[in-house]
Amino acid sequence: MLSLSPDGRWLELPALATAHSHAFQRGMRGAAQRNADASAAREDFWSWRGAMYRAALALDPESIEAISRIAFRELRRAGVRTVGEFHYIQHQPDGTPYDDRTVMSDAVVRAAKAEGLRIALLRVAYHRAGPGRDAEPGQKRFCDPDVDAVLRDVDALRAKYAGDPEVVVGVAPHSVRAVPPEWIRELAAYADAASLPLHMHVAEQPREIDECVAETGKRPVELLAELGVLSPRFVAVHATHLLPHEAALLGQARAFACVCATTEADLGDGLPDLGSLRASGARLCTGIDSHVITDPVADLRALETLARLRTGTRVTFAPPSGTPAEQLWREGSIEGAIACGFADAGGTVRVEREHPALALVEEELLLDAVVFSGSSALLQA
Ligand SMILES: [Zn+2]
Repeated sequence: MLSLSPDGRWLELPALATAHSHAFQRGMRGAAQRNADASAAREDFWSWRGAMYRAALALDPESIEAISRIAFRELRRAGVRTVGEFHYIQHQPDGTPYDDRTVMSDAVVRAAKAEGLRIALLRVAYHRAGPGRDAEPGQKRFCDPDVDAVLRDVDALRAKYAGDPEVVVGVAPHSVRAVPPEWIRELAAYADAASLPLHMHVAEQPREIDECVAETGKRPVELLAELGVLSPRFVAVHATHLLPHEAALLGQARAFACVCATTEADLGDGLPDLGSLRASGARLCTGIDSHVITDPVADLRALETLARLRTGTRVTFAPPSGTPAEQLWREGSIEGAIACGFADAGGTVRVEREHPALALVEEELLLDAVVFSGSSALLQA
């Protein structure tokens, strides 16, 4: 996996991929890190979400493109070649579609290409605040009245980017809270028929699990299995609060779990059960998600270090081949690209052999040092 350039100056590795991104949230960096409401019982994911909605409401096609370019430029400099953009800001702030219905998606695609990234534009479907609850004012611009409106836009995007090797279009029911079960079934059937990536937020927060059980009698992954969603093209983003039998359902389908460790730590989401996911055969990849920190090497390292924190042990898994560091790099590069619908990593990234961070490291331990002691600051596109 790691090779040395002919002149011996550079270590070369497959370029990184980040399979779950909300590029506009790059505009929130430094924000929402103080107690915004002294009267609130506590600050958590849900209070952060209020701040994020205010940022989302302020966007227009020009500003989403400008912010996305900054986010993507930083990703490219951090060794990333492929991004999965989970794109949910479709319409005007009051929910009225733009005359050009895909103007916001097109702005994000343009931003990625301008910064040298391949992009999976994962067109989100969003319909409600939760089971039995209409969309809140801050959610209206994410929403569509019916599945057909979503799929017409997906059709239009697929036609526009057909034949562009740098762009994949995928389908993304937002979550079990924001999309009713019958929508999820239809969207999955469409993705299946067209062999498109299908991404969805799954079990990020305990509350959405409780609401899913109350609505359907099933936990989220149990429901997704019944709806025909699980497949090797399915990416369960977060997969934080799964029970072992839900991890097993993902594994049986050879589906992905996309862990977004840095954002999950920032939001206080919880620790995923990586041991169950690995043991079940689920595939793993990583996501930059909120862009609170741009260090994709930290994100792929966390696929091991979070398991250490959870279990109180070290070297928690034995990969099918090679070393743990090789498997983690694979998950942060090629596996993430496959989760986004691309066939390969799309290029390489380089590390200077004489970088001070690698001083005193034995030749055969270089990748271990990059993964477990390095950061994206080591990487050059
Ligand atoms: Zn997300």
